[in-house]
Amino acid sequence: MGLSKTIWATPGEYLRNHAPDHPVLFFSPAILQATARRFIKGFPGLVTYAVKSNPDEEVLANLVAAGIRGFDVASPVEMDTIARIAPGAAMHYNNPVRSRTEILHAVKLGVRSYSVDSHSELVKLGELVPADGVEISVRFKLPVEGAAYNFGAKFGATVEKAVELLTLASQLGFTPSLTFHPGTQCTDPHAWDKYIRAAAGIARDAGVKLARLNVGGGFPSHRLSDIAPQLETTFDLIGRVAREAFGEDVPALVCEPGRGLVAESYSLATRVKAIRDDAHVFLNDGVYGGLSELHLVGVIDRIGVFGPHGVARGGEPVFRTVFGPTCDSLDKLPSELAFPAEMEEEDHVIFYGLGAYSVATATKFNGFGQITVETVQSHR
Ligand SMILES: *Cc1c(COP(=O)(O)O)cnc(C)c1O
Repeated sequence: MGLSKTIWATPGEYLRNHAPDHPVLFFSPAILQATARRFIKGFPGLVTYAVKSNPDEEVLANLVAAGIRGFDVASPVEMDTIARIAPGAAMHYNNPVRSRTEILHAVKLGVRSYSVDSHSELVKLGELVPADGVEISVRFKLPVEGAAYNFGAKFGATVEKAVELLTLASQLGFTPSLTFHPGTQCTDPHAWDKYIRAAAGIARDAGVKLARLNVGGGFPSHRLSDIAPQLETTFDLIGRVAREAFGEDVPALVCEPGRGLVAESYSLATRVKAIRDDAHVFLNDGVYGGLSELHLVGVIDRIGVFGPHGVARGGEPVFRTVFGPTCDSLDKLPSELAFPAEMEEEDHVIFYGLGAYSVATATKFNGFGQITVETVQSHR
């Protein structure tokens, strides 16, 4: 017998009935499943989910229910979770640096796809993973702009090295593929254009026909009211450029979104602890909690402010500096936010589109960060 839990129509309905003094995340399974179906319908290839962006088990179960059959995993814990929640789903072990113990764990769980960006790690895989049709995806990087921050700083072989690694992976008997990640929150679709054309060049120079091309995550979520991401335009561009660049040898395409899939399904209600001397706003959550990546990726200006009994506040926008609850001076949002003039202490400020890198990275620093999760039909 399962426990049934309340599904609120919106966060506003919940706030009409409660006045939580701790941060509350609102999760909409309906929105998550709709976004997953949008990816599956629009992306010209296999859609997998990057587990690290939000490993909540309800998220994973809803993605499976919506038809997601593959997952980008980076650690034994993530692999064990997928093996349990989504038995039989494909696991792509796309963390290019692994210990021998971690590799053996993956082999034991039947993982059949690994990314690699260095010679030493490829040799290690060659020693521990029986080739037997297993895929090695060489991860490469380009100096391309467009994302909120650059993933190439940590991972990715140069184009020249990718040619060598692809040749060697093929010689070792692995199924040769390529992968890249244009950087998270990549709002410029032309980054994919450059990467896909470079991938075709690498395959040509290595004299290898690619089995698959994994075009990464990086699909942006809606953070700033004025900039709505154009997912379908990006999907179409990816399909068209792959056909142009590879011609007859076009590989099967794979994507592994984290943020783009999960962000919109959550919102976060914080509470105004104080408007200190009518200037700065102090919220009960900040960069050590659910708002942890704002100082890396930039502020989210999609907010709603609710007074007592969930009544939406109005009035002229007033720009204010925003601090989180801890005593660390870093605990501050990277830019001011516009709040309605009517806002008062104890109001709730809801941030929309906060499903990625929020629950996943929240800490309990300084005794804060007790976040609870409520289920909603939709966010507004
Ligand atoms: C984090 C990560 C992703 C997901 O990135 P998003 O920007 O959240 O879409 C995909 N692939 C790999 C290898 C990653 O490390």
